[in-house]
Amino acid sequence: MPECIIIGGGVIGMMTARALHLSGMEVLLLERGPLGGESSWAGGGIISPLYPWRYQDSVNRLAQHSKMLYPDLVSCLHDESGVDCELINSGLLVVDRYDRELALNWSKLWSENVQSLTDRQGLLSVEPALAKEIEQALWMPDVMQVRNPNIIKALRGSFDRLNIAYREHASVQDIVVHSGRVKGVCVGDEELGADRVIVAGGAWSAGLIDAVRHIDVEPVKGQMIMFKGEPDLVKRIVLSDGHYIIPRRDGRVLAGSTLEKTGFDKTTSEVAQKILREIAVSLVPVLASLPVERQWAGLRPGTENGVPYVCAIDDVEGLYLHAGHYRNGIVLGPASVQLMTELVLGKETFCDASPYKVAALH
Ligand SMILES: Cc1cc2nc3c(=O)[nH]c(=O)nc-3n(C[C@H](O)[C@H](O)[C@H](O)COP(=O)(O)OP(=O)(O)OC[C@H]3O[C@@H](n4cnc5c(N)ncnc54)[C@H](O)[C@@H]3O)c2cc1C
Repeated sequence: MPECIIIGGGVIGMMTARALHLSGMEVLLLERGPLGGESSWAGGGIISPLYPWRYQDSVNRLAQHSKMLYPDLVSCLHDESGVDCELINSGLLVVDRYDRELALNWSKLWSENVQSLTDRQGLLSVEPALAKEIEQALWMPDVMQVRNPNIIKALRGSFDRLNIAYREHASVQDIVVHSGRVKGVCVGDEELGADRVIVAGGAWSAGLIDAVRHIDVEPVKGQMIMFKGEPDLVKRIVLSDGHYIIPRRDGRVLAGSTLEKTGFDKTTSEVAQKILREIAVSLVPVLASLPVERQWAGLRPGTENGVPYVCAIDDVEGLYLHAGHYRNGIVLGPASVQLMTELVLGKETFCDASPYKVAALH
């Protein structure tokens, strides 16, 4: 019998399983579909919240710690799996006009590098492909990105290499609780026992844990398109009014994303494609000549303020919740996983864990 069952094989569940395994715990991860097939695959992989100055300290604390952990994490994953997660320091240009003061204050408070660029020459030296109408921007040279589908491949490779137990196409129907203690989970007719269960079901987490505790995680659809281009046509991540473009190393450029509260529906629309394309071209006109190779949608695990749940469920011994990372699961992941691991192992936590509790978020 495993010591801990993790429900959900997105980046949050997979990284949690790997971290607990490395700490010596016997784990079993259960995933309803293929590993990493949901939000974690669909995301953009920017290693920073968009407009971090608009978030609470609790989000920034995890983001900053994760940024420090990422280089080592991708290097270990590369050793274990042979997969390159394409961690690139592409920087982020924020071209919105209204956030300047807030951003500069935030950068001082968090010792982050944010520069205000106010002349065209400065802008072009950072991103030569930028539209000529753009005359000022905030430049964050230290923002990195990863290619999130590669993170999933690397984590899968790591599971196989390290013999971390997982089952795909294993949908958990119920969490078994007796006398205030978790006993395991039900998958079809099978009851699988474990003294600890971690719910990492992304946008589906509320449905999984609702019988025990009500939480406010809900799906927020994000549509994305991908242009097929040549390497170095665009170099920087560019953000404007909540929409962004992300240039990948092989020349592909992602443009995203929509924010839609339409339940668990993952269909894409021509209207969204048109809007995302127009916005992307308005930022970097050279994209107008490129074909849109692909369009997709993912369901973010949305919470009201973007603060994830990383906590034990108080009145059910052995039950934990690790979900609700909303738009920031890739950036917050490594730090959030460290915190969850420390909670499960009963260790001192690297930061104050109270903002991530269920009660704190209600
Ligand atoms: C368009 C888009 C762009 C994004 N861009 C970024 C970005 O640039 N940077 C960033 O940091 N974040 C980004 N995100 C957010 C990020 O992708 C998510 O926060 C993160 O992937 C959440 O990971 P997760 O493991 O919690 O959820 P998921 O990846 O959704 O994984 C949850 C898993 O649980 C499984 N599951 C559910 N119910 C059950 C069950 N009953 N039994 C077994 N398994 C179950 C699901 O099948 C799923 O695979 C973006 C998201 C989208 C959609």
